[in-house]
Amino acid sequence: MACREVHAPALSGFGFNMVGPAIIKFGTARQQADLLPKIRNADLWFCQGYSEPEAGSDLASLRTRADRDGDDYIINGSKIWTSGAELADWIFCLVRTNDQVQQQRGISFLLMDLASPGVTVEPLYAFNGKRLWNQVFFENVRVPVQQRLGEEDQGWTVAKSLLGDERLMVSRVAENKRILSLLKEALALQQAQDIQLPPEAEAEIAALEIRLMALETTSLRILSQADAGAQIGAEPSMLKLKGSELVQDQDELLFRLIDYLALPQDTSRGDHPAVTPPWAEYVASGRYHHRSYTIAGGSSEIQHNIIAKQVLGL
Ligand SMILES: Cc1cc2nc3c(=O)[nH]c(=O)nc-3n(C[C@H](O)[C@H](O)[C@H](O)COP(=O)(O)OP(=O)(O)OC[C@H]3O[C@@H](n4cnc5c(N)ncnc54)[C@H](O)[C@@H]3O)c2cc1C
Repeated sequence: MACREVHAPALSGFGFNMVGPAIIKFGTARQQADLLPKIRNADLWFCQGYSEPEAGSDLASLRTRADRDGDDYIINGSKIWTSGAELADWIFCLVRTNDQVQQQRGISFLLMDLASPGVTVEPLYAFNGKRLWNQVFFENVRVPVQQRLGEEDQGWTVAKSLLGDERLMVSRVAENKRILSLLKEALALQQAQDIQLPPEAEAEIAALEIRLMALETTSLRILSQADAGAQIGAEPSMLKLKGSELVQDQDELLFRLIDYLALPQDTSRGDHPAVTPPWAEYVASGRYHHRSYTIAGGSSEIQHNIIAKQVLGL
């Protein structure tokens, strides 16, 4: 099995663990036999090529073209905000195969090798200097037709199914638990040093913990329904909304509570016992980075729209 030195959390948002269920649902027997074992072993990593410079929330307006030429498609266009493209082997991509029909009906879903001639991956950096995304350019890239997932022009169905699975994965229960444990540690550290904390701090932590318990219970309920084969509708959107908002609210309180403990240790005059926990210096960076959670995977406004339409029938 391939072994790559990548910090595990860096992988969490990648497409590499998202495309498997779509291949199980929509792939040919050959695609399943070729790709699923490699994905399971992490020998083959995918990134997600959905967003384009002028197609984010309005994804169906995407313009990257795939023109048929014999047994191949010829791809031209570009994808943006592609997390992990610098590490991935392949990209799963939404492309326009028909511009004579309603937007959603002219899209196909392709699986592409990023090493194909004509693919260029350019870095995009976040506020803290981290290479968080990429822009991927395609210039006359040949992709065999047999690497299409699902029928031609029917890629929107595959795309929506994958987005549902992605949103189920980003309810962020585990991450919220980790932040909650830091909140409790921060509180204990401040109390141990007799620091005067806002009187409502403990009650705020308790309220966040209750929200987390509700999120976890609901996630488990929906996952077991999905496992039993039930049709899942707007539930992933609800989980994504609640999970990402909870991360941001917990971050906000952690940022307030950690206060001076977030300062880097000054060791210029020799060693001394550390007074800050090693995670504290990442609190500010995490707080800003996690603002992206209510955008990535479909913004909160879009999740509200889905719920309004599917649940309330508006
Ligand atoms: C950290 C991160 C990682 C990402 N990784 C990937 C990736 O790997 N692959 C990929 O393909 N994409 C990725 N994205 C892109 C992401 O999917 C888009 O940013 C997202 O869909 C929003 O699109 P946009 O940025 O074009 O914003 P826009 O669509 O331009 O939206 C701008 C604002 O308008 C609001 N808005 C838009 N339409 C409506 C509407 N109909 N109703 C109400 N409000 C609306 C939005 O909510 C938002 O606040 C990533 C984004 C982030 C932040």
